[in-house]
Amino acid sequence: MKIYKNLRIFTMDKEGKVYDNGYIKVSKGKILAIGNCDDLTCQELEAGECVDCKNKIAVPGMITTHAHFYGTFARGMQLSQSICNWQQMLTHMWWKFDKKLTFDQCYYSAMLGLIDGLKSGTTTFFDHQASPNATDGVLDILEKAVRQAGARACLSYEVSDRDGTEHRDSGIRENERFIKKTQNAEDPQISALFGMHAGYSLSRETLEQCAQTGKELDCGFHVHIAESEADVAESYRLYDMHVMERMYKAGILGEQTIAAHCVHLGSEQWELLQKTGTTAAYNVQSNTNNAVGICPAVSMLDHGVNVALGGDGYTYDLYQELGFGVIMQRIREKDPRVFSGEQIRRFAFENPGNLGKRLFGVQLGMLEPGAAADIVLVDYQEPTPITGSNFLSHMTSAFSGKVTDVIVNGKTVVRDRHCTQIDEEKILAECKVQADQLWKSLD
Ligand SMILES: [Zn+2]
Repeated sequence: MKIYKNLRIFTMDKEGKVYDNGYIKVSKGKILAIGNCDDLTCQELEAGECVDCKNKIAVPGMITTHAHFYGTFARGMQLSQSICNWQQMLTHMWWKFDKKLTFDQCYYSAMLGLIDGLKSGTTTFFDHQASPNATDGVLDILEKAVRQAGARACLSYEVSDRDGTEHRDSGIRENERFIKKTQNAEDPQISALFGMHAGYSLSRETLEQCAQTGKELDCGFHVHIAESEADVAESYRLYDMHVMERMYKAGILGEQTIAAHCVHLGSEQWELLQKTGTTAAYNVQSNTNNAVGICPAVSMLDHGVNVALGGDGYTYDLYQELGFGVIMQRIREKDPRVFSGEQIRRFAFENPGNLGKRLFGVQLGMLEPGAAADIVLVDYQEPTPITGSNFLSHMTSAFSGKVTDVIVNGKTVVRDRHCTQIDEEKILAECKVQADQLWKSLD
């Protein structure tokens, strides 16, 4: 048992409990107890290994409900042609890029995302992999990277028709194989969803096949929905219905499913998300960068949808993403009052944490007895008063870059801003070599 003491703890639970000089007892990957240091007895202190946290702030680990590890190697890449819309972004950039990925590049790109994320306080990753020429066994390779870095992840492979039936079938096989493996293992560190790319790259037959396989496996799905207007328009043209309705009718939505983006939706589609308990992942910086629009996140939260924070692999620094996500809702709604503190807490902690509970079997996103010991320590000497009621405002505007220590599943995986489980320098040097090779293969 370990006791982290002299902490300022912001639990992010429903009551908003705060401990000004608190302790967290951790055992077997979970939080055993939380309280005030004054209440710790000598006996208790002697029973465990004590870690003096010197008045650092403790918060639950952040959760990215939508990510693409493979995309990290696109950082800094120059495009040979200009891209003027989302379809071109896929066909001229991402679908050329991911086809060239080798298994080694998948491993190192995952390591890069994991290192970035863990050092920024992100402890759980819901990843969505695409590598059409490195498919069979690729989720095992990502799992290896996740375990080595010491993170928690839910992995999936994006099935699509874009490269023909052979690639489609290998994607389906990879999901099926990996889901069965994680279901048998029941390990709270690794989970799986059935991945699919998006409505416009899934034919009627493929969607039915994925839905049927998912039903037999009794698993959820991870799919892009209504990221661009084209996804919605194509669905009306071919199926005479909104892409969300198409997914609903196919049986894809549900409490274990992630609908990523949800930018182009109206109240009829929010209702489908709400009544099925589906999680809608809001990825504001990626959507802004791709100029596809701003997800109606606040309106959906108002309608009881489980909207949750994602980064789309565009970023793994979720404090920054959260701050941007909040202000972009204010410009979308043309109202500086929207996105209340309680909604921000639900969006960034409770909703992703509850999804985590359904998929990993342990509560994430809050610090309470019985929850996962996924704890982030932040060295923040606040220049203005900090309280339970203004805490999120401090977090969104100032926590980025101030994470010092990260604990996942009870294990310290970042100490004094360095990853403890892996040789960070060596891995990052190899990332550079692998990314260079990938870029050259694209010429
Ligand atoms: Zn995505």
